Amino acid sequence: MPPARLRLNDGHMIPQLGLGIWQVPEATTAAIVAAALQAGYRLVDGAAIYGNEAGQGEGIRASGVPRDEVFVTTKVWNDDQGYDATLRAVEASLARLGMETVELCLIHWPTPARNLFVDTWRALIRLKEDGRVRSIGVSNFNGDHLERIIGETGTVPVLNQVELNPRLQQAELRDLHDRLGIVTQSWTPLGQGRSFDAAPVQTAAARTGKSPAQVILRWHVQLGVSVIPRSTRPEGLAENLDVFDFILNPEEMAAMAALDEGARCGPDPMVFG
Ligand code: NDP
Repeated sequence: MPPARLRLNDGHMIPQLGLGIWQVPEATTAAIVAAALQAGYRLVDGAAIYGNEAGQGEGIRASGVPRDEVFVTTKVWNDDQGYDATLRAVEASLARLGMETVELCLIHWPTPARNLFVDTWRALIRLKEDGRVRSIGVSNFNGDHLERIIGETGTVPVLNQVELNPRLQQAELRDLHDRLGIVTQSWTPLGQGRSFDAAPVQTAAARTGKSPAQVILRWHVQLGVSVIPRSTRPEGLAENLDVFDFILNPEEMAAMAALDEGARCGPDPMVFG
């Protein structure tokens, strides 16, 4: 069953589940991206800093899947923040990808100490107006950062990609996103496997005949968020996509909610960058 799609606040659609390619070596990226698309994935989440945009583009072209069926994300790295630097950085990303446009471009981190994210956001607005990117969003932003870019430009990001997994459930931020019409997208959705052995995950896995990773990805889907697991194994790619044919019941969802510890795997966006 193919991934469901979510509507963005600018009218475009995004597949609810996609492939993340952080830490995938450039040399193997094209093959993994092509395999994922052939397995049914339609969203590939990349970033300039991942160093594999050429492979991301090459894999999409090699897959045989028409370009207009694939949702491509890239991100502006911290060192490229600022209006002119962002315009240049996105052009460089498009050149590496070998594409005229991408479906989504995000500010990778707010890096509050640099205080450049509003100028960076203005550059993304310009790139959208110029048709170089179709939709624009952010990553690792908190409520204050969102309020600031919206207040200063009037443009609401379509999406905020944040760390979200059973140990860091981001309920408050998800509520804010819902009020603002912003799609939440989960990075490190499997939480480095730290919840695979948790009782609610194991119990749901036993009842449904699914793996712990599938239970956790299904939990993301039922939260209504978009999710971008990474696997470099063909079996892992197939397993992670196969989460649209079962449902966690309300008791299982409640048991998953109780796993929240507010514990991050990644850096704190208030200080990173
Ligand atoms: P994930 O939560 O997707 O986990 C990836 C790890 O889990 C890999 O070690 C993988 O190993 C393993 N894994 C994948 N599937 C399974 C499975 N079914 N069963 C058991 N193990 C599995 O982590 P990421 O940190 O990569 O996050 C996903 C994506 O989010 C990134 O690739 C990137 O695109 C994005 N991201 C964005 C950030 C941001 O700041 N905006 C920060 C971090 C990530 P194997 O390959 O062997 O399957």
